Amino acid sequence: MNKSGVLVIEDEAAIRKLLEIALQSSGYNCFLAATGREGKILAAAQQPDLVLLDLGLPDEDGQSLLQSLREWYTKPVIIVSARSSEAEIIQALDHGANDYLTKPFRTGELLARIRSAIRQTTTEPADPMKNFGNLTIDLATRTVKKNKEIIKLTSTEYALLALFVKNEGRVLTHAFILREVWGPGYVEHTEYPRVFVGQLRKKIEDDPNRPKLILTESGVGYRFTEG
Ligand code: CA
Repeated sequence: MNKSGVLVIEDEAAIRKLLEIALQSSGYNCFLAATGREGKILAAAQQPDLVLLDLGLPDEDGQSLLQSLREWYTKPVIIVSARSSEAEIIQALDHGANDYLTKPFRTGELLARIRSAIRQTTTEPADPMKNFGNLTIDLATRTVKKNKEIIKLTSTEYALLALFVKNEGRVLTHAFILREVWGPGYVEHTEYPRVFVGQLRKKIEDDPNRPKLILTESGVGYRFTEG
């Protein structure tokens, strides 16, 4: 089996080392870059399956590096940064980051996020049937079942659920959800996702007050998980 390659772009030597050890002991090929410039060169040369990107780099801000990577690099990028402001996180996600972890991070959680991001990109096309616990979504026939019973969704609720399912594991910002489900003219209507996520949770979650499928990422958006 081919090892997945992970590129780490991080200027702090101690964190680079920590990530290298964690990644290698989990069976990944690890590429290390200490500057934005090295990162761009290694990304192009090694074609990693995933990039871990720090935002505070000595030669280039991680946000602009992310934008230039996204000109051609379509695989997952996870931000690992000390910057924890909502604005910074939202900007990174809108620039195409798949996920965001703030430092200090737990290695176990980071590895879980990496696995989920890589799995999503490698298992995507084959099957229109998606199973999440007792919930089944057939993207081909637009049928949603919970415990084998068909659930009736409005077209907007279905569009929102389908968007979540197609982006499993990924944090979706309010602005992204509004653009994709309602259209570019609706980006200011930040109450829409909250209202419709509430409706969806009542229909698909076992306990809508303790959601396990559609998780709230406070101040940022939502993440759909396996539950
Ligand atoms: Ca740094």
